[in-house]
Amino acid sequence: MNLNKKIEISANALLCIKALTQEGFDAFIVGGSVRDYLMNKEPTDWDIATNATPEEIQNVFNKGAIKLLAKLGFKGSLKTFYENDFGTVGVAFPISPLSPEEYEVIEITTFRSESSYSNYRHPDKVEWSKTIEEDLRRRDFTINAIALSPIDSKIIDPFLGQNDIKNKIIRAVGSPNERFNEDALRMMRAVRFEAVLGQGWKIEKETKDAIKRNSSLLKNISKERLRDELIKIISSSKAAEGIESLRVHGLLKHIIPELESGYGVKQNKHHIYDCYSHNLEALAYSTKKNFSLEIRIASLLHDIGKPLTKAGDGENATFYNHEVVGAKMTKNILTRLHFKKKDIEKITLLVRYHLFYYNIDEVKEASIRRLIKNIGTENVEDLLKVRMADRVGSGCPKAEPYKLRHLKYMIEKVSKDPISAKMLKINGNEIMEILNLKPSPTIGWLLEIILEEVLNNPLKNDKDAIIKRLNELILLPESELKNLYLKAKGKVEEMEEREDRKTKKKYWVK
Ligand code: ATP
Ligand code: MG
Repeated sequence: MNLNKKIEISANALLCIKALTQEGFDAFIVGGSVRDYLMNKEPTDWDIATNATPEEIQNVFNKGAIKLLAKLGFKGSLKTFYENDFGTVGVAFPISPLSPEEYEVIEITTFRSESSYSNYRHPDKVEWSKTIEEDLRRRDFTINAIALSPIDSKIIDPFLGQNDIKNKIIRAVGSPNERFNEDALRMMRAVRFEAVLGQGWKIEKETKDAIKRNSSLLKNISKERLRDELIKIISSSKAAEGIESLRVHGLLKHIIPELESGYGVKQNKHHIYDCYSHNLEALAYSTKKNFSLEIRIASLLHDIGKPLTKAGDGENATFYNHEVVGAKMTKNILTRLHFKKKDIEKITLLVRYHLFYYNIDEVKEASIRRLIKNIGTENVEDLLKVRMADRVGSGCPKAEPYKLRHLKYMIEKVSKDPISAKMLKINGNEIMEILNLKPSPTIGWLLEIILEEVLNNPLKNDKDAIIKRLNELILLPESELKNLYLKAKGKVEEMEEREDRKTKKKYWVK
């Protein structure tokens, strides 16, 4: 395979490799960065492997480095840190002299070898190795086991990973059975790469069969590691395919068994899909629309409560309260997977209220207000998106754009501060005190007249100015004051209507 010309290798990664080689060490770009580079994709980060030990790496970049790096063209200062047990030293290069707090971190890891694994996860202890070949042998898939030496453009590819990249194949390095027994998370990583790498990627048959055989080993893996892979799958452009692939490989039941329980559970005459497929279709829509991770997860879990609440059978089956049960289940699932508290709360709310009822002309402002109060103004847009995903996921061709626009209009309408005397810098009690009046309709008239004047000129909403004006108004005969009030009332109503027309126009509703 020719070296790629489209993606430029990070200058800082090159600098690290040059510095290490000048000091007599071997150093290569490895792992996901080589894979992405060969696929013409910008890698998320540049990882380097070397035969230097962590201490030696730190020495290269700390002490002797300044002169050496200056010779290689680097100006400025850098930091190294070594805070783990895996031989990875981070070298932090400032991104620009203007923002010294922002760094590009190049991770440099000492060559590692196979070591003993127990409990089907991380190796018990890490052992350094002498050669890049040994280091590549402990990596998970052939496409991730390629090393690149950018100085002489040499590629080291003992497991023919380049062929697998060309053919879009995810294949374990060596014996898949053994590799999954060493670290069971690799099975989920296989599915993650299949989803993340894009269209056409497939897991090779032997690797696939080994996942199916060993899927239950996944229960030994920490929930945090499962969560991180799950997030990557759901964030990919093949999120729904990824979840289905987890199911097919027998992994889903060790991650979200509640989701799998909906498999084959028929709904009713309103639905063409079973519960599981409907959740997946909703996720697929959210993915197609590039909705946020929270919306995607809420779409995936929105009907998770259906299998438990199903009553009756056939086309008249019901699922009363499934949104309440579903919200509880969502909270449990996400807590179990150690999601952030803030995300758990939001997604649970989206599931709880996904079923809100809305029919133009039927739903009153009060129930819209209640919905906003329950879900929070900041979550309203996202709830509408989950609703669209639910609808399109049911097999409806459209997301009912008119109705949704109308709902958005209603939400804005009830969220706006109403035009009222409350906006004034003075209230009825103060007026009574200042003008020495008893409670009477006159107070209301005065408020309305002042309101109309303030709406026309907001500068007039000043306490002193209002008092001055009140003193003028109170001198008028009662009939004249009432006339002024009636005119003002008409004008305020007109303004309200004008505002409403503007909001309606914004959402294209009648
Ligand atoms: P991404 O683009 O998501 O960063 P990546 O391939 O770089 O993908 P990482 O998790 O960053 O994935 O891991 C970097 C490299 O380390 C992998 O490419 C692989 O070579 C190796 N690796 C990571 N996790 C494992 C594992 N569990 N078992 C074996 N090798 C692994
Ligand atoms: Mg990576």
